[in-house]
Amino acid sequence: MERLIYMDNAATTRLCDAAVSAMIPFLQEEYANPSGNYEFAYKVRRAVEKARKDIAMLINAREDERYFNSGGTEGDNQALRTFVSVINGKFAVSKIEHHAVLNTCDDISRWGGKVQYIDVDKEGIVNLDYIKNIIDDTDLISVMAANNEIGTIEPIKEIGKIKKEKNTLFHVDAVQAFGHIPIDVNELNIDILTASAHKFGGPKGVGFMYVRRGKVFKPFITGGSQERGKRGGTHNTTGIVAMAAAARQNVENMSKYKEYEIKLRDIMISRLLSEIPDSRLNGSGLNRLPGNVNISFKGIDGQALLMFLDDNNICASTASACSASDNKISHVLEAIDVPGDYTAGTIRLTLNHENNIYQVMKVCEVIKAGVLMLRNLSS
Ligand code: PLP
Repeated sequence: MERLIYMDNAATTRLCDAAVSAMIPFLQEEYANPSGNYEFAYKVRRAVEKARKDIAMLINAREDERYFNSGGTEGDNQALRTFVSVINGKFAVSKIEHHAVLNTCDDISRWGGKVQYIDVDKEGIVNLDYIKNIIDDTDLISVMAANNEIGTIEPIKEIGKIKKEKNTLFHVDAVQAFGHIPIDVNELNIDILTASAHKFGGPKGVGFMYVRRGKVFKPFITGGSQERGKRGGTHNTTGIVAMAAAARQNVENMSKYKEYEIKLRDIMISRLLSEIPDSRLNGSGLNRLPGNVNISFKGIDGQALLMFLDDNNICASTASACSASDNKISHVLEAIDVPGDYTAGTIRLTLNHENNIYQVMKVCEVIKAGVLMLRNLSS
């Protein structure tokens, strides 16, 4: 059997070795609840606080501005539901946000909140003039750092400048970006940021949220007094220490990983576009996550191509992992105006530093064969 080629790192990543080593003691001998009042628990609490400090440093935040949670979906829900009064609150979100933001906004609208949707251009970049126009009359603006489907990196720094010295809160979903591109919450003027460990080599079901000091918010999950009363529930100690180890590894190696991934990505893009007629790259050429290839082939069914890839032991996806099952045209492709005869034939391949050039070459060959076969079948 041929070896698996995994190119779906935007859906999730392999747990990195540093994260596994970090978590083992907390799965075995260091099992105390960190809220306990004895040395056995204090030791675990110190490890949780060290993880908090480490992650704070990686985004240039203070330790008391960081909260642990279960990941991106919880963070996005908390950001949108608990910082402003939902009733009468005015929100602005980009049209290409993840469903954790968009479906939450649908719910907020049903409860009386007013949601405005920010257009994006053909590369998926938000309209900054629109943001300038609405900023004074908006309580919270939410724009992702990088898109999960097409990999477009948003102009977060420019939005941060627009919102500086305004009362508007600025939330950034950095689930796809943190660990892959630099994030400095002060330089970018971010008030609230959400991230998720399993997108950067950490475990699933754990993440963190940054909240700028002085920004008042209600807890989203009420319960015990963990996280200074802002997020009830026993700490996921194994997840938290493993997330910090993965974060450190990714941020420390960021430039090296980035350069390597961009090389692989660009070889793949140029081979696919030049060797397969009627193909198009979606998203931005320049402002693009290092490992993202989102490409459409005219007149074929992307789902069928994905099955062909799967038969060849290659893992990729048609859209984001969260929307691939509902068979609807992706809201992201719709927002960037991908022509109708291309949308159904779209696949996303997301590489990381664990992929190699041989895999890239193999995947290009299999995609070429698959597209040819599907086009022959339909002609
Ligand atoms: N936001 C973005 C941009 C994502 O890509 C994802 C997951 O794919 C999420 C939020 C949800 O994160 P989680 O899987 O940690 O709930």
